[in-house]
Amino acid sequence: MTIVDQNTHQSSLERKIQQKIVELAELVAQREFGADGPGKNVTFREIEEIGYQAAQRAAREFEVAATKQHQQHFQEEQACPQCGQAWPLLDVVDREILTRLGPVKLSELKFFCNACRRSFFPSA
Ligand SMILES: [Zn+2]
Repeated sequence: MTIVDQNTHQSSLERKIQQKIVELAELVAQREFGADGPGKNVTFREIEEIGYQAAQRAAREFEVAATKQHQQHFQEEQACPQCGQAWPLLDVVDREILTRLGPVKLSELKFFCNACRRSFFPSA
């Protein structure tokens, strides 16, 4: 891909992201307020809170998707952080991680060093 192609691809992605964010905002507004939007007595504080919750939800989904992709780099043997010996993947462990966005359910790749008798999680 040339630099021009990459720039075109990036701005195309940026347009798609913006479009999806607008769609998300419209769907959340519809769910919360119906087709006519917020009623006369709804405060900005209430609108802000709903927007904040929608943003948190979208960010948590991003974390789950990006983490899953990131784990592709750790399918082969990984070096123990203590002794440097390489060990194969032992298990995939589902965990609920407390992030800045609140709890997020992720799976983590677990390795075990037989020399040090310890588990390690290189993708974390
Ligand atoms: Zn070790």
